[in-house]
Amino acid sequence: MLLLNRVALITGGAKGIGKGMALKFAEEGCSVAIADISVKDANETINEIEKIGREGLFVECNVTDSGQLSDMVKQVIEKFGKIDILVNNAGTLLHVADPNLKSIATIPENEWDKLLAINLKGTFLTSKAVVPFMKEKRYGKIINITSLGAVYPPAVAPHYNSAKAGVMGLTYDMACELGPFNITVNAIMPGLIRTSFYEPVLKTKTDEEKEEFFKERSKNIPLQRAGTAEDVACVALFLASELSAYVTAAILPVTGGLPFQPNF
Ligand code: NAP
Repeated sequence: MLLLNRVALITGGAKGIGKGMALKFAEEGCSVAIADISVKDANETINEIEKIGREGLFVECNVTDSGQLSDMVKQVIEKFGKIDILVNNAGTLLHVADPNLKSIATIPENEWDKLLAINLKGTFLTSKAVVPFMKEKRYGKIINITSLGAVYPPAVAPHYNSAKAGVMGLTYDMACELGPFNITVNAIMPGLIRTSFYEPVLKTKTDEEKEEFFKERSKNIPLQRAGTAEDVACVALFLASELSAYVTAAILPVTGGLPFQPNF
């Protein structure tokens, strides 16, 4: 097992990519804490972790709130005594279906602030709360989640793409600052991953139309399909384990080959 006796904290681990990572890590021997705002889904994920035979802990926590974060980290340390792995995964593209959010001309200032707070500031605040405990043990694996949109924006969400580009910059800085403490900091850059992330756009569509949505977008992907939470979790496992001992400041794309395209 690659993560035996390790402890991971995954923000946004209730569902989607975060849940995929939580279950993958548990299968590899890891105890998993989840910090999320989605209470029902988080409790279900904890049940699944326990069915695998590992310990789980859910703490309701909004990653934009430093007070909630410090209480949450305290609870994780009280239960497990350490945090070896931190995945800064909580993120969202609020109101993704709203056409006003596609242009800097129409994005309201408060939407910009909200998106930056969840996707970028949340990564900073969570890391700030966890890093002292990693430094104390002189061990840590931090995995940030950026997005292909950061470097190859499809011009649908300038605020989201800017936040995710910020996560890349933060990853490089944190890797340099924390390397001397034996803490690695890397990022995963997902492309099109089929999760509830797309619910706001798809909620009014039929099952057939939902299939069509992903099928249409898969045509430009070299591997010809949308990714799964499992696809991302496998790469996260590499970055969370000793297989990546000498890897830091890396941004790993999990995009099926995008932005390169077949028949371009
Ligand atoms: P998801 O299925 O929507 O899951 C995200 C989880 O984070 C949800 O449980 C969500 O709760 C929670 N969350 C949202 N805001 C939060 C906050 N302020 N504090 C704590 N938890 C919060 O999305 P996903 O597809 O798994 O995405 C995971 C990460 O991958 C995100 O950072 C996303 O930006 C990134 N990503 C995804 C894709 C993709 O194609 N899916 C592509 C590139 C990057 P609610 O559902 O209640 O809001």
